Amino acid sequence: MPELPEVETTKTSLLPLLTQRVQSVKVLNASLRWPIPDNLEKLVGQRLTALKRRSKYILAEFEQDQMLWHLGMSGSFRLCEPNDALRKHDHLIIDFEDQQLRYHDPRRFGCILWLDQANQSKLIDTLGPEPLSEDFNARYLLEKLQKKNVGIKIALMDNHVVVGVGNIYATESLFNIGVHPAQPASTLTKAHVEKLVIEVKRILKHAIDLGGSTLRDYSNAMGENGYFQQTLLAYGRAGEMCVNCETTLENLKLGQRASVFCPQCQPLKLKKA
Ligand SMILES: [Zn+2]
Repeated sequence: MPELPEVETTKTSLLPLLTQRVQSVKVLNASLRWPIPDNLEKLVGQRLTALKRRSKYILAEFEQDQMLWHLGMSGSFRLCEPNDALRKHDHLIIDFEDQQLRYHDPRRFGCILWLDQANQSKLIDTLGPEPLSEDFNARYLLEKLQKKNVGIKIALMDNHVVVGVGNIYATESLFNIGVHPAQPASTLTKAHVEKLVIEVKRILKHAIDLGGSTLRDYSNAMGENGYFQQTLLAYGRAGEMCVNCETTLENLKLGQRASVFCPQCQPLKLKKA
């Protein structure tokens, strides 16, 4: 599943489209997570003026209208020449002056929507801060976690707390600070929260620096483990030895997701230490 670093990389790869005018739009299959709007021809004649990212959404700003794009589980954008062969699961083609943009999505959980007031309120305004922004700091997180009755890993992956911390980043950062993934969020000490914020930022920056293509979910990797994956210490390593203490790493299901941890380095403490 594309995670925040991969979306950031995708956004960067689309920057050559900036200032180009839309020539034509063609929807091949409108049935994504929500239907592609049937009035996309409004884009024709408009220049693309900005590309931004908020959480895992790409915000595409045109002269008159704004769009909200999400890659879902398996979506991708690519820049093509008009004569390039269509691929199965190419659902949308936007012709710009110099290039053609195609949206490809085998599982069709992505979305291509107008960023209107309704979608802004429903999808964007409810999001927590960006993990790499100054708004995501220890003071903020400590306060947020006080009110949470769930394990820290579930809280960290909650978009209302902070956006873009997927399973890989939550697993790795908790391993690196020695906190059990099921540790009740409200019991983390200030020192732990401070370390956690630093660690989440560090690991996300590292992943962005290495580029999105290395960030395939472990189970989807088909043996194509990228450099970033080779640097993972806990995620995807259940049954292997902990790099710190040689205890066997265990796997716990939390909120339907695999949560790998070291029982020795990440003991569960039910009270504030
Ligand atoms: Zn260990």
